[in-house]
Amino acid sequence: VQVLVAIDGPSGSGKSTVAKEIARRLDLGYLDTGAMYRAVAWWAMQQNVDWADTHAVVAAAQDAPVEISTDPDRQFVRVGDTNVTEAIRTPEVTSHVSSVATVPAAREVLVARQRGIIADSGRRMVAEGRDITTVVAPDAEVRILMVASEEARMQRRGAQLGGSQNAEALRAQVVGRDAKDSTVVNFSTAADGVITLDNSDLNLEQSVQAVMDLVLR
Ligand code: C5P
Repeated sequence: VQVLVAIDGPSGSGKSTVAKEIARRLDLGYLDTGAMYRAVAWWAMQQNVDWADTHAVVAAAQDAPVEISTDPDRQFVRVGDTNVTEAIRTPEVTSHVSSVATVPAAREVLVARQRGIIADSGRRMVAEGRDITTVVAPDAEVRILMVASEEARMQRRGAQLGGSQNAEALRAQVVGRDAKDSTVVNFSTAADGVITLDNSDLNLEQSVQAVMDLVLR
């Protein structure tokens, strides 16, 4: 199918896992926009960027030579010669990524790049993040806001991290980050024409099926 699928949602909503699986089944590209914000945060940390200096943060977004794979079966992120696929998932990067995401001019840089990647795919892609349905690709054929209860989201993120985090640290990472992010992007209510999918009580296969039904209807 030739279709652009846009999926937004808070952290732990399962959107990455579902989006990747939809891309596999429909032979579409997959774009993890959060990984781009994370890569910029990683780069800014290497450069010792002062997070309070928004000009420096914007410069980091412009200058970081981020390369991201759109193959759902071969995901990687590089910054220059460094493979940062794993490094961008550390708690250190996670705790700083909102400092990139809350700078509007830094977002503009990444949004423009994301639109370019989507165009290069011939609009055959599943793109996920926080502002795909509203800013990056409001013209997508299928637009979904994936939500889940706080309890379900903390459970999933905890499992992803191998159960190594205590409840408070997890809450800070999931709920705290969402609170910061929501100051600049709205991903708690669906925009006009965006379908809300609550998967609190759905397993992975059921969530994938629910999205497939929306894409293929
Ligand atoms: O999805 P993930 O948790 O990897 O996203 C990391 C961070 O990137 C989010 O917490 C948010 O600050 C930012 N982000 C964003 N807009 C997107 C995708 C991610 O602001 N479209």
